[in-house]
Amino acid sequence: MSIPGSVFDDLVGQEHAIEILRNALSASSKDDASQEMTHAWLITGPPGSGRSSAALAFAQALICPKKGCGTCPDCNAVKTSGHADVEIIRTEGLSIKVEEVRELLSRVAWAPSMGGWRVVVMEDADRLTESAANALLKAIEEPGSRTVWLLCAPTLHDVLPTIRSRCRHLRLHTPSFEAVTKVLVMRDNIAPELADFAARVSQGHIGRAKYLATTESVQRNRKLVMQLPLQLGSLAAAFQAAQTLVDLVTTEVNESSDERDKKEIEKLLEAYGKGATGRGMATGGAKAVKELEKEQKSRATRMVRDSIDGALLDIATFYRDVMMVQAGNDGAIINTDIRDEIIKYASTHPHHTTIDKMSAIMAARVNLAHNAAPLLTCEALMCRLAKA
Ligand SMILES: [Zn+2]
Repeated sequence: MSIPGSVFDDLVGQEHAIEILRNALSASSKDDASQEMTHAWLITGPPGSGRSSAALAFAQALICPKKGCGTCPDCNAVKTSGHADVEIIRTEGLSIKVEEVRELLSRVAWAPSMGGWRVVVMEDADRLTESAANALLKAIEEPGSRTVWLLCAPTLHDVLPTIRSRCRHLRLHTPSFEAVTKVLVMRDNIAPELADFAARVSQGHIGRAKYLATTESVQRNRKLVMQLPLQLGSLAAAFQAAQTLVDLVTTEVNESSDERDKKEIEKLLEAYGKGATGRGMATGGAKAVKELEKEQKSRATRMVRDSIDGALLDIATFYRDVMMVQAGNDGAIINTDIRDEIIKYASTHPHHTTIDKMSAIMAARVNLAHNAAPLLTCEALMCRLAKA
């Protein structure tokens, strides 16, 4: 079905969605394009299914003279966020505010430079505040406009009804282990055995699978996290495990953001004429730095939450495996590196508690998503997991 050398090739296991996008594309190239094209799309799918990749591929296909060859200057410019007619909104903070949307709307009010489409990709439409979403409404329903909106969110329910009723819905699915393994081997040159392991433990999340397969520190941290369920012999141990988890994640986040934070501040100071006479700093520079630092802090907070969530998903695979073994299906273990430990755990813990433990993990994830304090949430969870 897929044409060789197309931007859609990278969308793993999404044949149905690709077909819909291709149909929309061929409709858009007919004479009366503005009548045929859907101007607002809402792309949903579980984390890792490739929502933003799908949106980006569609943006490339709309802009590219060859409908998304993936290699021409237009395709490359879209991919590196350097195309004049494509806006890619990635949110580092916890929400997209109304001021940001208003600013965006004034930027995209101009006709596209090449006479084709103007495309806006919003990767986290679920983070739009209510007033920001309302500011968007009019823009996404404007008939005859040359702008195409590609909004991404985990599920339909993560965006306001007013927004979703104005969008065409495109649903992505979690790709199979096999599809993820294949893409890691073929596209990223990862050894088949490692690719298979990464695809299984990442449960179809392509980005995580690739990150795990290619980053040693992540593999090391994952090993430590997967030991935690085995160390919950007492309440004291449970508190220790929570602390270990939060420390691991915080260190990882700090390491990855320190460098970037510094560079951003330097760039901002340069823009305000640092080192010249110091006068520039007097006119708003210090305030801008303070604002940037505030944003960086909120980004780090979000990254810690996201990483703890990832670690909790990893831990959930431990209990998933235990449940499989308790159901007599040893062959379904995905954490093959701690197979013996899982089998032993399954035989020494009562079956009925395994599901309780998995629900406790999911409840903790929900609490974290609602801004519960990370350490406190992890402590409460580990105490529940420590019960026989
Ligand atoms: Zn192209």
